[in-house]
Amino acid sequence: MNTSANANLFSRLFDDLTETNRLAIEKADGTRISYGDLIAQSGRVANVLVARGVKPGDRVAAQTEKSVEALVLYLATVRAGAVFLPLNTAYTLNELDYFIGDAEPSLVVCDPSKADGIAKLADKVGAKVETLDSDGKGSLTEAAAKASADFVTVPRAGDDLAAILYTSGTTGRSKGAMLTHDNLASNSLSLVEYWRFSKDDVLIHALPIYHTHGLFVASNVTLFSRAAMIFLPKLDPELIIKLMARATVLMGVPTFYTRLLQSPNLSKESTRHMRLFISGSAPLLAETHREWSARTGHAVLERYGMTETNMNTSNPYDGDRVPGAVGFPLPGVEVRVTDPEAGKELARDEIGMIEVKGPNVFKGYWRMPEKTASEFRKDGFFITGDLGKIDPRGYVHIIGRGKDLVISGGFNVYPKEVENEIDAIPGVVESAVIGVPHADFGEGVTAVVVKDKSAALDESAVLHALDGRLAKFKMPKRVMFVDDLPRNTMGKVQKNVLRETYKGLYAK
Ligand code: AMP
Repeated sequence: MNTSANANLFSRLFDDLTETNRLAIEKADGTRISYGDLIAQSGRVANVLVARGVKPGDRVAAQTEKSVEALVLYLATVRAGAVFLPLNTAYTLNELDYFIGDAEPSLVVCDPSKADGIAKLADKVGAKVETLDSDGKGSLTEAAAKASADFVTVPRAGDDLAAILYTSGTTGRSKGAMLTHDNLASNSLSLVEYWRFSKDDVLIHALPIYHTHGLFVASNVTLFSRAAMIFLPKLDPELIIKLMARATVLMGVPTFYTRLLQSPNLSKESTRHMRLFISGSAPLLAETHREWSARTGHAVLERYGMTETNMNTSNPYDGDRVPGAVGFPLPGVEVRVTDPEAGKELARDEIGMIEVKGPNVFKGYWRMPEKTASEFRKDGFFITGDLGKIDPRGYVHIIGRGKDLVISGGFNVYPKEVENEIDAIPGVVESAVIGVPHADFGEGVTAVVVKDKSAALDESAVLHALDGRLAKFKMPKRVMFVDDLPRNTMGKVQKNVLRETYKGLYAK
């Protein structure tokens, strides 16, 4: 599927660029970066990387705040034939020790405030260290300013690595997902078409760029379409609403949509210039979908993907964007639902393990051949770990992570099913259902509920409302109330945190 002689993602992105003056990125302070600037700056940084000893196939680790310069570092790394390894800015030195030791990068780029600590870790694997701060300043930028902008993009084969992204690893050690040039290019090109991106688009980019969503989906799709993006350091609802007057697309995690809905300034009028709102990385509540439609007249387009697979499914551009569903497999991607134990394909509407196969699916886990082998079926399907179903119309629905399944008294309880019933109770904002160790049942179904401030709802009222709507074994044994559910930056509810909080709930 090479679109140019060289399968390097950078070549595929830019080899046929003609309009170098086109706007690629606008910073929050109004600074404008053209496509030509991106190419020149990535050339300078690629020259610095090579001067620091980075060779094709080497890893370049980056724990940097979001900035255009950090995005340029990604492009430069790929351009130099090296492997980009972005790291969540929240990771502590203790955690970084594992990532750096495991990935053995030849260069680590970090915020100046962390340089001393990181230098000690980098030393252990013989890596050099450069700095880059949230304003794009640091030793890397200083060196780049003195380097030549000319750089011949290093040829790469389609299945050479372009990036390694560590999974969030809520169970066990996090694993490095190896993504190839073909994985990234094929998925972005497919999304450009599916979501009708063109050079007239202006994307509001407020996602972090250490994660597949902000780094690959948002950035690569924009750059492949020669569109522009407005780069914001983080979610700022009022600023986003203001920018909508001259933007066309927003990509967000569900939290973006719930936060935007809290603003009285969100309206049909303020979203008039926008053509598309995309959500992913965590489930968008059907309720949020409906509220958004009512308030703005736009149906949010929800899609489903993961670090290992890039994007797998999307609701249609034309046609029904079904609340609570993640849509159809993208062109070239196969999705099936199987019995988790036997691996046999299940019929429509039956809940099982979601498996995917296609050019989007990663090459394997870095230095974990056994783990990799155990997550793939013999016929090449990747076992996602997500439970779901395909409905009679072909829409995929995610029911939750396999590891979140609650087994109570020997019965399987799908948290989503219980959450849906609880969420339908008047006064409930949202809920999370978890399994908590229980002497008699193995696990006790436990509901953690956020209620409307004004709602006079208590445990017995929730249980009463559920009575008769759920089989006895699915009924929560306890209902706990909290102000907010714990979420990570990507908007995912951290059920592991809830399980830890309530682990002693049924202790005798
Ligand atoms: P990550 O690798 O951090 O992108 O996380 C991937 C996981 O996020 C998937 O395996 C799903 O469990 C979840 N996820 C992503 N998109 C959605 C979605 N639209 N609805 C529900 N879960 C999602």
